[in-house]
Amino acid sequence: MDLATRLKSAIDARRNDLIALTQALIRIPTLNPPGRNYREICDFLAAYLSERGFTTELIRAHGAPGDSETYPRWNLVARIEGARPGDCVHFNSHHDVVEIGHGWTRDPFGAEIDGDRIYGRGSCDMKGGLAASVIAAEAFLDTCPDFAGSIEVSATADEESGGYGGVAYLAEQGRFDPTRVQHVIIPEPLHKDQICLGHRGVWWAEIETHGRIAHGSMPFLGDSAIRHMSAVLSEMEETLYPLLLGKQTEMPVIPEGARASTLNVNSIHGGAPEEGADYTGLPTPCVADRCRIVIDRRFLIEEDLAEVKAEITDLMERVKTQRPSSRYEIRDLFEVQPTMTEKGAPIVRSTAAAIEAVLGREAAYVVSPGTYDQKHIDRIGRLKNCIAYGPGLLELAHQPDEWVEIEDMTDSATVMALVLAELLGS
Ligand SMILES: [Zn+2]
Repeated sequence: MDLATRLKSAIDARRNDLIALTQALIRIPTLNPPGRNYREICDFLAAYLSERGFTTELIRAHGAPGDSETYPRWNLVARIEGARPGDCVHFNSHHDVVEIGHGWTRDPFGAEIDGDRIYGRGSCDMKGGLAASVIAAEAFLDTCPDFAGSIEVSATADEESGGYGGVAYLAEQGRFDPTRVQHVIIPEPLHKDQICLGHRGVWWAEIETHGRIAHGSMPFLGDSAIRHMSAVLSEMEETLYPLLLGKQTEMPVIPEGARASTLNVNSIHGGAPEEGADYTGLPTPCVADRCRIVIDRRFLIEEDLAEVKAEITDLMERVKTQRPSSRYEIRDLFEVQPTMTEKGAPIVRSTAAAIEAVLGREAAYVVSPGTYDQKHIDRIGRLKNCIAYGPGLLELAHQPDEWVEIEDMTDSATVMALVLAELLGS
């Protein structure tokens, strides 16, 4: 039997373990916000992995956003050493899940099995991927006990809220230093035959227009910040949106609509603050002296963040020329540089070869429209040899009745085991 076949039968022999592990993980409701049961899931995995020979460490991200005595930000890093020196392959999964939301017909934390699917919040994003990587490591360790280097498995907090209490914290502690870890796979749900090389960039900003308050019956005595903002939005429609649509990237972003630069206005608010639903009074007549929008600009690897920001400043200046009384402020809220691992990188090459060997078809290369924890591994960890690869359909993430297919998990676990064999020798 060749190695791929042996690894495949080692995974098949663990099919029930894989199902049980996925179910156990789903049944720990690690809701974020606020960050529930992080310690419980880390303790559970630490016990599971220590039984299989891993050294485990629980690391709390003290002082990270959201970290408190009630909701501590716990992370788990498990490591196993091979027989000889060599590279370290690291599987990083986030253990947090988003809110349940409405529209479920299954128990969100029941991990119900129906046909070849396991249902539950986090099944697809990404406890199925976490379980698949653990089983892949187990099958590899059994099949190739004499391997070189080391394997790490981490389960980290807060990916859904930016990753600052998770991968960013670990990266700051040097956990993703290229002298310590050489290859990283993040088993996010990106389809079992696709390799995700990276993501687009992000800039969030708040734009505020300023006017002057006056009585609403005599608006000519004031200066409406809402009308100034309306001019800003018209200018965006007329000049900025067409400009962004014309910028197309060479990055293989999916879905295809995200191959252009995009801009979303997340929110708009002007004038008096909104009252609660239980307030029964009438509003007062005032000219709005402030109007704010929050923009979410996603940019391409071909673009420069300074130019992206200058587009908005130029636009605001054009509006100001037409409306001399208007004033504005722009506040940066959040920014992430785009990242894309090269196709020639060792982790990409060995995963592509493993996909072909296991699934009998060529791997597709994709880039994510939004960011995920790869940003911290790249920017803080300075580690470029990183991809996202894992079971499940991205479209199901954060949806009601989220599920993961068992065959997707066994197939991608086989791919991951084969990647270990390729990178750590057999
Ligand atoms: Zn995820």
